Amino acid sequence: MQIQYKKKRNLLQNLLLVELVQGMWLTLRRLFTKPITLQYPHEQPNVRRGFRGQHALVRDPHSGTTRCIGCMKCAMVCPSRCIRIRIHKEPEHGNRRFIDEYNIDVLRCVYCGYCAEVCPVNAIILTEVFAYSAFDRKTLAYDMPKLLDNWDDYLSEQGEHLESYANPTWRPRGLPEGTLPVGKRLPVSDEWKGEGQVVGRLWRQSVQGQNR
Ligand code: SF4
Ligand code: SF4
Repeated sequence: MQIQYKKKRNLLQNLLLVELVQGMWLTLRRLFTKPITLQYPHEQPNVRRGFRGQHALVRDPHSGTTRCIGCMKCAMVCPSRCIRIRIHKEPEHGNRRFIDEYNIDVLRCVYCGYCAEVCPVNAIILTEVFAYSAFDRKTLAYDMPKLLDNWDDYLSEQGEHLESYANPTWRPRGLPEGTLPVGKRLPVSDEWKGEGQVVGRLWRQSVQGQNR
């Protein structure tokens, strides 16, 4: 790589204060352009889909509790080691895992999104909620009820449902359905299909059912 040295100014440039005038001209031009900053909190940013914000555990509408199956993948992949899960197995239910505790120490999180990406059943997500600062550190150590409440709030405030969040966020366009874990194969909406998304098996079934 060739290093470009700044040209030496000549006497005339020094006398005419050329660089000062250039700087003032830039300032003047910026006076008439639209600002890129926002007067937060009076103005709220338009947060884009896929922003990695506040954690939530998706509540299963049928059972009323978490969709988490206790596979521990999120805890293992987390680079900050801020997810702690405690489970127990019940032999009478075929050694199925039940979640006793699910905790995230939000202050240690680096918002990489690996937990949500690796989760085979879309149980843990990172919502677009970004304003959740607190005065007390303990408030930011989320337990399972708090994480489930975060999902309820997200649903009610943003009018979201799991498909409309998870498909555009965690399912890159064109990704064949077969490459997704079964629990991540959610119905694909018309809107998302229109953007070139591979149409999911469940979505196809629902459309076929409507056309009958
Ligand atoms: S976003 Fe990353 S750092 Fe935060 S809890 Fe998930 S895996 Fe851990
Ligand atoms: S990866 Fe998903 S299903 Fe597995 S323990 Fe974490 S949240 Fe639960």
